[in-house]
Amino acid sequence: METIIFATKNKGKIREINAILADMDVNVVSMEDAGIHIDVVEDGTTFEENAMKKAVEIMEASGKITLADDSGLEIDYLDKAPGVYSARFLGEDTPYPEKFKVILEKLKDVPEEKRTARFVSCIAAAFPDGRKLLSYDTVEGRIAYEAKGENGFGYDPIFYVPEKGKHMAELSPEEKNAISHRGKALRKMKELLKKENL
Ligand code: IMP
Repeated sequence: METIIFATKNKGKIREINAILADMDVNVVSMEDAGIHIDVVEDGTTFEENAMKKAVEIMEASGKITLADDSGLEIDYLDKAPGVYSARFLGEDTPYPEKFKVILEKLKDVPEEKRTARFVSCIAAAFPDGRKLLSYDTVEGRIAYEAKGENGFGYDPIFYVPEKGKHMAELSPEEKNAISHRGKALRKMKELLKKENL
């Protein structure tokens, strides 16, 4: 069975990807489990650049096929901010409720039809023999007028998902995986990996 490294420290993401790749003959492990302890600087200006940089650096350090993701929230009214800076928006350690306050204030008088936003996910794969793969997907929604829901993480409480009639943080993990940017991009990556005979 092929061992693949997923370049994240987040155990939740490892569980998510193992569930999605369950019917393939691969075992996905975290960087920590693979004994890789390097910090990749995410200094790219696009999700694709950041994801590929992470995948390539960890592949070079480990000698194993490596997957990496980069994701974030694009708010159209704010010219697609915070985008690739979503985690760092107002400071990495600033609690999300404070980030919500600032965003909701900026969009205070903005009508529903101009509150469009999307979560973006880009997944990169780097193989030791030089092959590279990229998948990208989004989930479209709107910035709500208030935070709501306890599930998920990050900006989920202020992201309204029209197709569900709920905020993202009100969805169960299974419901979120089925429609989310990351769930969809991971399923696309799975198809790309199968084409590479994995
Ligand atoms: P990264 O891809 O782990 O660097 O995450 C980037 C940032 O985007 C996260 O820290 C969150 O702020 C935001 N983000 C990415 N995906 C989600 C999501 O599914 N829900 C809420 N926020 C997200």
